[in-house]
Formats: sequence, C-alpha cells, structure tokens
Amino acid sequence: MPHGDGASSLQRGKLSRNDLIRDKAYIDGKWIEADGSASIDVDDPFTGEIIGKAPSVSEDQTKAAISSAEKAFPGWAKELTRHRGAILRRWFDLVMDHQEDLARLITLENGKPLKEARAEVAYGAGFIEFYADEAGRMFGETIPSPVEGRRLLVEPEPIGVCAAITPWNFPLAMLTRKAAPALAAGCTMVAKPASQTPLSAYALAVLAEEAGLPAGVLNVITGKAGMIGGLLTSSPVVRKISFTGSTEIGAKLMEASAPSIKRLSLELGGNAPLLIFDDADLETAVETALVAKFRNSGQSCIAANRIYAQKGIYEAFLKAFAKRVSALALGDGFNEATDIGPLIDKAGVAKVEEHLDDAVAGGATILSGGKSSGGQLMPPTLLRDVAPDALLTREETFGPLAGVIPFAAEEEGVRFANDTPFGLAAYLCSENPATIARVGRTIESGMVGINTGLISTAVVPFGGVKMSGLGREGSSHGLMEYLNLKYLCHAGL
Ligand code: ADP
Repeated sequence: MPHGDGASSLQRGKLSRNDLIRDKAYIDGKWIEADGSASIDVDDPFTGEIIGKAPSVSEDQTKAAISSAEKAFPGWAKELTRHRGAILRRWFDLVMDHQEDLARLITLENGKPLKEARAEVAYGAGFIEFYADEAGRMFGETIPSPVEGRRLLVEPEPIGVCAAITPWNFPLAMLTRKAAPALAAGCTMVAKPASQTPLSAYALAVLAEEAGLPAGVLNVITGKAGMIGGLLTSSPVVRKISFTGSTEIGAKLMEASAPSIKRLSLELGGNAPLLIFDDADLETAVETALVAKFRNSGQSCIAANRIYAQKGIYEAFLKAFAKRVSALALGDGFNEATDIGPLIDKAGVAKVEEHLDDAVAGGATILSGGKSSGGQLMPPTLLRDVAPDALLTREETFGPLAGVIPFAAEEEGVRFANDTPFGLAAYLCSENPATIARVGRTIESGMVGINTGLISTAVVPFGGVKMSGLGREGSSHGLMEYLNLKYLCHAGL
C-alpha cells in the first residue's frame, strides 16, 4: 500500500486533542471496556494500517445500554425544551470548535479528502444547531370542536428510547442527523455506528458529555452488527429505529421490528439519475455531474449513479466533463490537493471494477481513468455510450465511476430515470422552466437537484420513496419522526 509522504497513519492523523479518540463504549455516561476486552480493528483505508480499536460489546452490555436509555428517558423528556436546546447548542459549539480534529478523525478512518471531511463536520453540526432551536418549537394544536362543551387538544410527546444504526460513508453527519432531533424531542438514544468508522461517533459522545448531556441520554456502542441489531429490534423498550444503510439490511430491520410495532426511519440505497437536457447550461451541467457523482469518491447514497445526456448536448458535455474528470487528483485524503481518496475497503473497489467491466463488455468506451492499480485507490473513471441496461444503471456503484448514456426525447430520459425500484435523489440540468417543472414533478424520487449536485442541508427533509426508504431526516419534519401526537379530549366544559 502507498504511504503518502512516508508518515504513518497516526502521524498523519494527529489530533490536537488525543482524548477524542476512545477505545471504550459509552454507556450510562461512563466509558466502559468491552467484556473480555473484545475489540474491532479500525484501519486507515489509505495505508491499511490499524489506527485504533473499538470495543465489541457483549449482549449484556448492549442490554445495559438500552436500560440506561430507558432510565434516562423520563427525566430528559420532562426537561424544559430550552434546557435541552441549550445543551444541544453547547454541543454544536464544541463540535465546531473541534472541526479540524474531527475532520482528521473522519479522514483517518474513512479515507475521504480532508476538505470534504471538514465540510462533513460543518454539515453534521448543522443538524445539532438546527434542532437546538427547533426544540422550542414543538407546538401543539387546539382544534375547534364540532360539538359543544369540549376542548380538543393535540400535544406532541417524545416517542421514548430510540436506536440509531449508522453507516461508514458519513460517519459523523449520519449520527448527528439522528441524535440531534431525537434529543431535541426528548427521546434518549442507543447509537451503533458502523464498525469501519466508529471513532467519529465516540468523539461526538466525548463532546456531548462536555456539553452537559446527562448520563444515559446518548449511549454509543459498537460490536457485532447482527447481535446488536437483533437486541435493539427485539427489545420492547426501544420504540423506534432510525437506520441509514443498505436496502437489504433495512428490510431485515423492518421485519425484525414488526412484532413490537416500532416506528422506523429508513434511509436506504439510492440509484440517482442525472438528466442533462439539450438546453442545459454546459458549465452548470459539468459542475453538477462532477459534484453529484464524485463527492465522497462516489460513496454517497445520493450519488448520481446514472448520467443521461440528451443527444444535442451529448458530445459537448462528454468533452467538457472528461476534461474535468481527468483533472481530479487521486490519493491520500490528508493531502490538501486530493479530490478522490481511497474507497472504504477492497470489496468496494471490486464492485466498481465489476461495473466497469460489465459496461465495457456492453459496448461502453473509457474516456478517462480505468482499473485500480491495486489497493483501495480507484481512479476517477468516465465511460461513454453505456448501455441503458448496464449493471451500473441497476445497482449502486458507490465509487468514482461515471457512465454516460445518451437519450433522445424528454419522455425517453424520464423513462430511463424512473426505471428503478429506488427513489432517493435525482438531478436534472435544464434552462427551460417548463422542462424543469414537468420533469421535476414526474421523476420518482424524494429529492430533486435542479442545476446543482449539492442538495443536502439540515433545514430540508432528506429521504426517499419506493425502496429507498421511509421517513425524513432534517427540517421540522425530521423532528416529527421522534414525536407521537397525543390527542386529549376535554369534555364537560
Ligand atoms: P453499508 O453497505 O453502508 O455497509 P449496511 O447496511 O451493511 O450498509 O450497514 C449499515 C449499518 O448497518 C452499519 O452500522 C452496519 O454495521 C449495520 N448492520 C449491518 N448488518 C446489520 C444487521 N443484521 N442488523 C443491524 N445492523 C446491521
């Protein structure tokens, strides 16, 4: 494996506060070693070096985390919303005060370029800031009664103990997106980050503790996903699961949650199309494709997985896009110039190469990039004339491989775009307001980026339709995911 400028992973990822790196689980406000000292190795995807250990908790410790959240719930739910908001606000400030350290930790365990890791910290912190304010805005309703002598009231109340299961591609932001609204609502939480990237989640817990979050309100555990997932779904105490990850695991969690009728938020796989129409602004289309496809080295659930360009702009787009793709710098995330870091693991590289081979076998031509030269660095790759039924149009590639497919009329482009069981994000580039309005409405997805590939922010509802999931994260809608509505009927007035 390459070693960047020759420094070891730990030197490259040096933090100003080393105590942000923990190797213990966070249960009931205490840092606890896993039973039998069982642990998971965490590696640096660029060098392959082991950079830390995360605890692999036992069944008893998983149950202890659930009990601790249960014990903390009544007090936290009763807390004044402005006090909950103030703690979240302090947590936000601490996260931003430690933006550089947290970004380095993300790059160390995930491999993404440092500039993107810094952006992830700011994005992730945005959820804490947003819900710090939102805590005070959980308004109820009074409904005019259709009969005399009654007052009809609706009051939101926190669901109870919630579980968060998060993936490795945005190790910090995927957790704040769940924890911030849950805690603002008055829920308590057991969080299980991905085994590949547990360090960012534990660092967030260190800062939450410093912000004054009471013991048991947020618990973080790592270990065997099947065992922890099994206990979280089967526990009658856990009232809600919020999961971000694959559709396959999401479906399993849904099934396992059925006997105890849990609330679910599922942010699952995407297969986002990008439609570039003849009347698009060329520079805007290239910028949109670049960001929508290559951000996070293509490892994003809203990544543009399939790029469709209309025949009139096809050649000009390919020429301009190829120039930009070939200029993307591949390498060590700690190098400020790097645009594309290593993929998370070897299986990730193998999948991208499988999609590349399949497209080429189906008639596509490589304009830039190609196979990896071993290791986890996959060069940014551009293909033209990809067949409309190529593997890369059907499965999430989750890597820096862009395949471009021509389409004739709008109707054909929209048909290609909607020909998938998924529906998380979609993108379109056009300068024609009528095309934007028509296609924006017809496309089957939870989110549509129009002339932009950057759509995520804490203030909007993020989520999918079809097999891409249930529920929304972010915005006031994201808070509702952690609240029940209680109707009180007051008679005899
Ligand atoms: P990805 O492809 O992003 O790794 P996964 O769905 O496999 O997607 O993983 C997302 C999260 O779900 C991770 O935290 C992982 O550990 C967890 N996970 C994997 N398998 C299970 C399971 N059977 N039950 C609960 N959580 C699981």
